[in-house]
Amino acid sequence: MKKMTNRYDRQLKIKQIGIDGQNNLEQSKVLVIGVGGLGSFVSSELVKAGIGEITLVDYDVVELTNLHRQNLYTEADVGVEKLTAMKNHLQAANKNVVINTISQKYSAELLDTKYDLVIDCTDNFPVKYQINQDCQERGIKHIFGTCAANQGQVMFIDSESACLECLYPKDKVAQLGLSANIGTNPMIVALTGSLQASLAMKFLTSNKYTAGQLLVIDNWTFDFRKIKVNKKNNCLIK
Ligand SMILES: [Zn+2]
Repeated sequence: MKKMTNRYDRQLKIKQIGIDGQNNLEQSKVLVIGVGGLGSFVSSELVKAGIGEITLVDYDVVELTNLHRQNLYTEADVGVEKLTAMKNHLQAANKNVVINTISQKYSAELLDTKYDLVIDCTDNFPVKYQINQDCQERGIKHIFGTCAANQGQVMFIDSESACLECLYPKDKVAQLGLSANIGTNPMIVALTGSLQASLAMKFLTSNKYTAGQLLVIDNWTFDFRKIKVNKKNNCLIK
């Protein structure tokens, strides 16, 4: 008789995860905002790891120029709504996960539903500031992530820690590069998305996290820096 194997066998053997961590993960609900490059990696890794429920928000259609960095999409998906294509790929990877899709631009009402964690995978800084503000006002933990050219940045944010506004005051946002203008090295998307998923995995399995710690990585110079970001007393948010 064939021995029953647990699909999560290899991650169950990680001592910091184990069966308790896996059970915690399977009870978890996350909101992933944006299923482009970062969202592709974040959602595929969390779904394959066996998260309980994932809700995806987007309103875009897959384009040919997405395929080099948005790993789940294929040529057959070009012209298809990202949410439709993404849900098909994710559900095929793990039938046990509840996958919800919401086709709309980001709005604060999305946070009326209770999630354990919000993961910002958008590529739009005005939206990132809005997500930051809305999560901070509601006391919802969220994971900031961004990447462009060869650089990626991630930070776990909670109501006690430095937030995006503490990190980059909004009036300086014009200095930050965007993918469409300065290009994107496809592998920096994989690394940055995987770091966001790693922060989520640690929190959702163990309830442990370090907020207000920025990781800046560069996959051309291979500089990886960890920076403690101080919460500003005069932060505009809260
Ligand atoms: Zn702040």
